[in-house]
Amino acid sequence: MFTKDNQDNSTYNVDNFAFIKKFSPVVGDLIEKEYNRQKNNIELIASENYCSEAVLAACGSCLSWKYAEGYPYVRTSGNTSRYYGGTTFVDELEEYCCDKWREVFHTDYHVNVQPHSGSQANFAAYKAILQPGDTILSLSLDNGGHLTHGSSVNFSGKLYNMAFYDVDEKGYIDMEDVRKKAMEHKPQLILTGASAYSRIIDFKAFAEIAREVGAYFMVDMAHIAGLVAGEQHPSPFGYADIITTTTHKTLRGPRGGLIFGRKELAKKIDSAVFPYAQGGPLEHIIAGKAICAEEALRPEYKEYARQVVSNCKAFCDEFLRLGYKVVTGGTDNHVFLLDLSGYPFSGRELQERLDEEGITLNKNCVPGETRSPKETSGVRIGTAPMTTRGYKEEDFRQVAHRIDSIIKDMMK
Ligand code: PLP
Repeated sequence: MFTKDNQDNSTYNVDNFAFIKKFSPVVGDLIEKEYNRQKNNIELIASENYCSEAVLAACGSCLSWKYAEGYPYVRTSGNTSRYYGGTTFVDELEEYCCDKWREVFHTDYHVNVQPHSGSQANFAAYKAILQPGDTILSLSLDNGGHLTHGSSVNFSGKLYNMAFYDVDEKGYIDMEDVRKKAMEHKPQLILTGASAYSRIIDFKAFAEIAREVGAYFMVDMAHIAGLVAGEQHPSPFGYADIITTTTHKTLRGPRGGLIFGRKELAKKIDSAVFPYAQGGPLEHIIAGKAICAEEALRPEYKEYARQVVSNCKAFCDEFLRLGYKVVTGGTDNHVFLLDLSGYPFSGRELQERLDEEGITLNKNCVPGETRSPKETSGVRIGTAPMTTRGYKEEDFRQVAHRIDSIIKDMMK
């Protein structure tokens, strides 16, 4: 819909703020302002993307008011276990959505498409396989993990006993440390996946360590799921017992989560989502997730994923050529971290300055961080959204030069 030249070539009425304004001038006006911000800015937030008009339309459809607590699985179990009538069509939709996601990842794992978000998917995944007080070994927030991977301010850090593996001095996940900590802490779950990690993750090596210590192995592939679908990152299927993801980052779908698990975990996963963690599923979002899966199955999607990674390498290489420090010295995926330790301004200050210049990204901790998480010494840069808008390698090189001149200006 938004092009690289800040145009909107939609056929669907995405700019329906004019209609909304008739009913609520305040809300309509704010949506219009946000629409213009999104259309005119260069979007480099690694966890964002633009979904298709079809996904957007499905998410705004009549399914939004349908209650359907429970599960369909008419084909798999012979009956529906919904707690409401009138679910014939959403039953069919939800089963179709599950089938499509299995097809995307070439898997026969069980899939639950109901989690409202990535955090809720993780909440339910832990509940399916752990007891409160069990030990999880994961990557900490300041090394690139997510809040739900055991941060002390999140449910994960409060409900479970956390141990963390480290990255090495270059910023790579240190598999020796993973093994050492696994032996030391004997966790019930070893978790990998990240919000800010720019390198290939070795799922096989993680699975071997988990097997050695008798732990479950879980992958949160929220960031890289689109690259896995587009065959630009090795797949965790076959290695992990349980896999969670969001559908709105590199996958380019609606905001939401998915959980995949080995078949023997199916019942535990389903009951952890409903009735434990959630009530009624968002059938309009499930419709959007089904369309997102159909899109991920098209050849153009593989080309998109390839372009995201190629753009990211070109963008990152240009910063390196300009003399910047990048965590791990490069990238294999859709994201990289500029390390601004030693600069006279923080990640927050650069984020705010770039915002004023129409470039959106976010501050991020770097390994060995000395500033607070509210300040940080780094920024996280991603290529998934602007690749959707048609950016190629040369466009990103030009953005690197724009950011470089803004930084030079801040140094004056
Ligand atoms: N897992 C990872 C690795 C993430 O990066 C995120 C979000 O950024 C989440 C989970 C949580 O997703 P949500 O914001 O949908 O709760």
